[in-house]
Amino acid sequence: MSNEQNMPTGANENKSKIREYAASEVVITWEASRCQHAKECVNGLPRVFKFGERPWIDPAAASVDEIVEVIDRCPSFALGYRTEDGLNRVAPAD
Ligand code: SF4
Repeated sequence: MSNEQNMPTGANENKSKIREYAASEVVITWEASRCQHAKECVNGLPRVFKFGERPWIDPAAASVDEIVEVIDRCPSFALGYRTEDGLNRVAPAD
């Protein structure tokens, strides 16, 4: 998890696009242009947020509670979620 060179960067992503990574109970969303590379995600739940891999998010690799808890730490709102139980995290309007 120390290979910072493999972190996704805005330059490698469609800046205006929100990508979705779906599992049975949760959809994780990621907006590359918002990412500040604070690494709360990869440090908090490295089996889900796998910088350097494609796809770099595996929404089935942890419980929904774990995913929600770590995504709530994302300072930039690059990460969001929709859960089967109705929890929803989206970026505030610009
Ligand atoms: S926690 Fe959010 S801002 Fe930080 S690296 Fe992950 S997606 Fe980017």
